[in-house]
Amino acid sequence: MRCKICGEDNGPVKKTCGACGAILAGETINNVTGQLGIRNANGSFTPYPTDGIISILRAQNADLLAALRLCLPIIEAEAMASHLTDGFRPRRNKNDDILDAVKKAIGDIP
Ligand SMILES: [Zn+2]
Repeated sequence: MRCKICGEDNGPVKKTCGACGAILAGETINNVTGQLGIRNANGSFTPYPTDGIISILRAQNADLLAALRLCLPIIEAEAMASHLTDGFRPRRNKNDDILDAVKKAIGDIP
């Protein structure tokens, strides 16, 4: 988690910043209990309700898929443009790999 005070990039389960000591507030995993929840600004931890985690993950997954669908036309255009100098027999490149990975992630496999 990145420190909002000094910008230090700390590990995902740290409670306080290793550089300046500030409390790292935000979504995290409690390193004692392993629960997913929110580290509050005062340092306390509020776990998500256990029965709510699946719905939270589903909502996050839906947001990620929506974002990938928005990016798809740009990635397709970038992949196409990357072949402009290849002539009639374009060679596969990293843009094709990225395009395939995004299509696979959103379930849009030809
Ligand atoms: Zn810091």
